[in-house]
Amino acid sequence: MQQHMDNLKKLQQIEDEILDLKTTRGCLQKEEEKLTTELTAIQAEVQRLQSTLDDSAKDVRELRNALAEGQEKVVKSEKRLLEIRTVKEQMAVTREKETAKQSNRELQEMIKEKESEIDRLTKEKEEREITLEELRERTEARHGEIAPQLANFDQALGEKLDHRVSLLANLPSNVRRRYQILVEQREGTAVVEARNSACMGCHMKLPPQFFNSLFLKQEIQSCPHCNRFLFIEDEREKQAPGA
Ligand SMILES: [Zn+2]
Repeated sequence: MQQHMDNLKKLQQIEDEILDLKTTRGCLQKEEEKLTTELTAIQAEVQRLQSTLDDSAKDVRELRNALAEGQEKVVKSEKRLLEIRTVKEQMAVTREKETAKQSNRELQEMIKEKESEIDRLTKEKEEREITLEELRERTEARHGEIAPQLANFDQALGEKLDHRVSLLANLPSNVRRRYQILVEQREGTAVVEARNSACMGCHMKLPPQFFNSLFLKQEIQSCPHCNRFLFIEDEREKQAPGA
């Protein structure tokens, strides 16, 4: 029976170590995911800026074409004005010319606005690209640190899991089954110490007679409240009598 109890204590220790390893490993993995997410977000932003810049450049080309046509219109009107004989015709062509000039001024204004927008976006994109490059370097460096650590964790985890399998195999099947159910139901803690007449798992007081029977170590005992396996540390209890 003492052999089984020792196995259970060892199992619990390994269970705790496995949980610690998984938690630390999870933190590292999360850190890596966060870095990747940040990197992807900035990459997307740079791409979005580039596509806005492409659109704006296309707009400017179209505006310039329209302006060239408008300027040609003005030149044509001026030529026609030289050949015109009637006042009525002259007035109509002059009006056409003025309208074209007005629309050219508007086009020039729009081109100016677009070009200053392009300047602003280009600067913004350049800044984002610098940030992206910095983040990329940082991510690669951190990844270089994290990857071997994750590999170490996986190796340690594999060893612990193997050890757990062999310890479980040494338990009588009914104890093993109970252990596995407890681990699942009690968030990984199936074996706890009984100290100062209380269960250290659920912190409930244990009946005095039951607590005293733990010292005999004649059978595997469970907490009457939370069902966890109970062990007792003789030395500690001797040092704190009646505590
Ligand atoms: Zn308990």
